Amino acid sequence: MKFVSWGDTANLAVRDNDGVLRDLSKSGRPATLQALIEAGPEALAKVRRLDLKSLPCLDASAKLTAPLPKPRRNIFCVGKNYREHAREFGTSGFDGGAVGGDEIPDAPIIFSKATTSVIGPGDAIPSANDPFNSVDYEGELAIVIGTGGRAIAPEAALGHVFGYTIVNDVTSRDAQKKHQQWLLGKGIDGFCPMGPALVTADEMPDLSVVRLTTIVNGEQRQNALLADLIFDVPTLIATISRYITLSPGDIIATGTPAGVGLGFKPPKFLKPGDRVAVRIDPIGTLENPVS
Ligand code: MG
Repeated sequence: MKFVSWGDTANLAVRDNDGVLRDLSKSGRPATLQALIEAGPEALAKVRRLDLKSLPCLDASAKLTAPLPKPRRNIFCVGKNYREHAREFGTSGFDGGAVGGDEIPDAPIIFSKATTSVIGPGDAIPSANDPFNSVDYEGELAIVIGTGGRAIAPEAALGHVFGYTIVNDVTSRDAQKKHQQWLLGKGIDGFCPMGPALVTADEMPDLSVVRLTTIVNGEQRQNALLADLIFDVPTLIATISRYITLSPGDIIATGTPAGVGLGFKPPKFLKPGDRVAVRIDPIGTLENPVS
């Protein structure tokens, strides 16, 4: 199923077979995506059994939000998880931890983005929040955890995935370098566009054939298959849950492929008036202007 969240209280809507968004918020089912995930697999099964066409259409004027606009805790993120991007970043001069510059990490690099960084589809990325004018985009597939757990085995990991969405891991490159740890440079208010929808795990194709593209002002900058991930979805879930108990609604952004702004000489950083669109089918296109 494909869910979107909308309005000030992030009400839930679902897409029917004809592509029409139906408002679930008055159906007696969990009113938000976070509540639906926390209610467990049977709650999702009940939504599947609903006659969606009997539900009201979502008003065309409804403002979509991030699928999970107020995550219960920081968004887990993965650094340097595509080979070409690891080289691009390591040799850019912005990677404070680089040694030779072209190293492929031998274990996942995990950091997080603050919950206050989340904005929705169409919301403006507030570039002035980066004091260094070094705002960069990173299109990424994001995992949303369903059933939580600790020390999840890789073979069991996909059973813990509720669904997938898109995240733009917007970054202040100079803050990322200045503070070495990436929390400040990547956790800036408004620097985590998310959406436009969540697709449940059963409706995503095999991830190895799924493509991610990022378009800035009509110019394609990123174009990669998710098969190019160094550490795949099961490995990421197993790695994080070895240390930290995962909970329903946790979000894991899986890393970005080559083609970010710092990879160009000179870097192509974002500026007010730009538009960034990250596309992953069948989730859709996450498009945001820069203010
Ligand atoms: Mg990233």
